[in-house]
Amino acid sequence: MNSGIRPCPKGVKPGRIKPKRLKDPAHLMLIRQLPCLVCGTTHGIEVHHLLRGTVRGWGLKAKDSEVLPLCFIHHTQSDDCAHDNKCGGETEWFKSKGIINPLYIARKLYENTGDYGKMLSIINTARE
Ligand SMILES: [Zn+2]
Ligand SMILES: [Zn+2]
Repeated sequence: MNSGIRPCPKGVKPGRIKPKRLKDPAHLMLIRQLPCLVCGTTHGIEVHHLLRGTVRGWGLKAKDSEVLPLCFIHHTQSDDCAHDNKCGGETEWFKSKGIINPLYIARKLYENTGDYGKMLSIINTARE
């Protein structure tokens, strides 16, 4: 008969140390409602996490506070997108699209998270 006794936990193993990453699903949801930073479309918006500097490797994605709205074309689905480009990197790619300081814009958006109107105007100003 099953006595219902649960196995005794054998000491808690320290989990794998994950890189610190700020998670903010509410902010990501708002980002998806903004127009693409590059072309201004509101169709098929995805969240792009800025990859900073020369950091390489797995698990080093940027924080949810450092994200930008990009349509799927400008995000991943073309030869000239944030994740696949011939500009030599994300920062250069943004520059080629007239976005000089993507990290600054991302931080501004996060500062104003929850205020959709303000967020929208940050995107519109950046695209001017
Ligand atoms: Zn776009
Ligand atoms: Zn991305």
